[in-house]
Amino acid sequence: MKTLVKLGLLNEEELNSIIGIEFNPVRVGFNTDISSNSKESGFNIYVNDILNLGIRPDKLISLIKQKYIIMGGNVFEDIGLSKLDLYKNTAVMTLTSNPQDKTPKIISTKLVIDAMGNASPISKQIRGPIEPDGICIVVGGCARGYLAENNTYSDLIFTDTPITQKSDSQLQYYWEAFPSGSGQTDRTTYLFTYMDAKKKDHQYQKSWKITLNYYHDIKVLILMI
Ligand SMILES: Cc1cc2nc3c(=O)[nH]c(=O)nc-3n(C[C@H](O)[C@H](O)[C@H](O)COP(=O)(O)OP(=O)(O)OC[C@H]3O[C@@H](n4cnc5c(N)ncnc54)[C@H](O)[C@@H]3O)c2cc1C
Repeated sequence: MKTLVKLGLLNEEELNSIIGIEFNPVRVGFNTDISSNSKESGFNIYVNDILNLGIRPDKLISLIKQKYIIMGGNVFEDIGLSKLDLYKNTAVMTLTSNPQDKTPKIISTKLVIDAMGNASPISKQIRGPIEPDGICIVVGGCARGYLAENNTYSDLIFTDTPITQKSDSQLQYYWEAFPSGSGQTDRTTYLFTYMDAKKKDHQYQKSWKITLNYYHDIKVLILMI
C-alpha cells in the first residue's frame, strides 16, 4: 500500500481512510492429520502485523478514479475489450458492453497495458490452444453472527485435512478467514484447492460434492455442477 503513496497516487491520510479493518494475530497452520492417535504434531504459527489489513476496494478505486479524471484521464465503465488490432504505429481497441452490442467504442492508442487478469482475452490469445496445467477453485462467503470477542484473528492459510484423492487429482484443501470491516460479528471465510486441469480429468465440469468441517463452527457443503 505504501507503494501507492510513493508513486503519489494517494497521500497518507487517504491511505488510512481506505483501511476498513485491522486485526491480529494472523495464523498459518498445516495440520494434515488431526486423528486422536496422530503422531504428527502439525505446524501452527501466529504472527502479528503481517497481512493484517482489510482494504475497502470501493473507496480505493473511487479515490484513484477521481484523480485520474482530474488529470485528464477517461474512464469507461460497464464495457469490455472485445478486440485488439495492432498496427505498426498504433493499437486499435474495440470495446463493447455485451456480445450483441452493435455500436462498439473504438479507441486507438500507442500503449496498451493488460490488467485483465487470468481471463484476459490477450493472454488467452498468447496462450493459444494450450490448456493450463492446473486450476484453483475457490468457494466462500461472508457471514454475520460470530462472537465479536472470538472474531479478532485471521487464518491466512490453514489446512486441517489430509490430502484427498479426487478423480485423478490429489487435493489439499486450504481455508482462509478474516474479520470483515462490515461489522464486529462479520467474518469472511473461503476454501480453495488446486487441481490438475488435464483434459481427461474434467472434474470441474462434473457435479461434485464435498462436506468439510472447519474448526467445528463451520460446516461447508460444496456442490459444483
Ligand atoms: C484463492 C486465492 C487466494 C488469494 N489470496 C490472496 C491474498 O490473500 N493476497 C493477495 O495479495 N492476493 C491473493 N490472491 C491473488 C490475487 O487475487 C490476484 O493476484 C489478483 O486479484 C490479480 O489482480 P489483477 O488485477 O491482475 O486481476 P483481476 O483481479 O483478475 O482483475 C482483472 C479485471 O479485468 C477485468 N476484465 C477481464 N476481461 C476483461 C475484458 N475483456 N475487458 C475489460 N475488463 C476485463 C475483470 O472483470 C477484472 O475486473 C489470491 C488468489 C486466489 C485464487
